[in-house]
Amino acid sequence: MQTTNNISLKPYHSFACEETASHFSIITCNKDIEAVATWSKTNNQPLLILGSGSNVLFTKDFDGIVAKMELMGIKKLNETASEVLLEVGAGENWHYFVSYCVQKGWGGIENLSLIPGTVGASPIQNIGAYGVEVKDTIKHVSAYDTINDTWVNFNNNECDFGYRTSLFKNAPNRYIISKVQFTLQKQPTLKTDYGVIREVLHDRNIKKPSLVDISNAIIQIRTEKLPDPKKLGNAGSFFKNPLIPIDQFEQLKNKFPQMIAYPTTDTTYKLAAGWLIEACGFKGIKIGNVGCYDKQALVIVSYGALSGKEIFDFSESIIQSVREKFNITLEREVNIL
Ligand SMILES: Cc1cc2nc3c(=O)[nH]c(=O)nc-3n(C[C@H](O)[C@H](O)[C@H](O)COP(=O)(O)OP(=O)(O)OC[C@H]3O[C@@H](n4cnc5c(N)ncnc54)[C@H](O)[C@@H]3O)c2cc1C
Repeated sequence: MQTTNNISLKPYHSFACEETASHFSIITCNKDIEAVATWSKTNNQPLLILGSGSNVLFTKDFDGIVAKMELMGIKKLNETASEVLLEVGAGENWHYFVSYCVQKGWGGIENLSLIPGTVGASPIQNIGAYGVEVKDTIKHVSAYDTINDTWVNFNNNECDFGYRTSLFKNAPNRYIISKVQFTLQKQPTLKTDYGVIREVLHDRNIKKPSLVDISNAIIQIRTEKLPDPKKLGNAGSFFKNPLIPIDQFEQLKNKFPQMIAYPTTDTTYKLAAGWLIEACGFKGIKIGNVGCYDKQALVIVSYGALSGKEIFDFSESIIQSVREKFNITLEREVNIL
């Protein structure tokens, strides 16, 4: 295992701030995973696994070892008349994997096109978009348990998936995910419930969409709506959409009839965090080197912030304003380090 000392993390995360790591290494195989875990224990230094860095915010220099996941490979384990089972290395680029499946005609993840990041990070916050969550295609997750120093396999139920969460999110840095198994459908049911998907298909005069059509529609929607991290530092949605009990929802709805919310169960509602933030006047504003994206208030953008602390402080001011106006405490989706 090779390590580099005192390295700038700027190229390795999508907010591209200037924080550094005291040690840095690259993982390309299972042996590297065991080696970084051992190195971290032997040297008594914290370990952080990084995929593409599209869901992290460094607020200070990382005093420990950052290991970038580059374990690759897409392997077909099984195929039947209706399904295909794939095992994918944690370092594979997520969108590359989606495109690979779409081209082969294997459905289930096409609505998750163009989400930045790696395959290994996808189960961590159970990535989701446009009515689909990755949990519905995951069969197995293979990981190294850094507490017990053993390899472990989790089936779907054991991953404890929920809205932007999982067993892995709730035990940060304990498990190093090496491979993920996905079951994809050869005769998939396409998910076009989102109005915006239907609009794009209509504009393109597509009546019987294919997997490629859905993927292209999602790519168009995301390109128009979200900032490109290569041009404007961001980590996508900075906050989760809050889930609240129906009583609280009804009180708020009386006071703010325009509020956007969706029932999730008979007793809970999911509020659009972007609407709450916009209602507090943050959409499109810029304070110092940080702001809220002008097309989507939920996305905090960096206009060249040198330190992640400035971005964190800005997110604090959003949390405070939303709490004062709506008595709701927003929870960050981005991993704060
Ligand atoms: C423009 C933009 C749009 C986005 N849109 C969406 C969206 O629609 N839906 C959505 O759900 N997310 C979205 N995101 C967030 C992000 O793309 C996902 O969370 C993605 O899964 C992060 O992958 P990553 O490889 O960059 O993870 P990183 O940011 O590198 O890591 C995220 C967390 O996972 C841990 N981690 C990463 N890899 C491993 C591993 N192999 N083993 C153990 N721990 C690991 C890290 O330590 C960290 O805690 C968006 C981000 C951006 C920038």
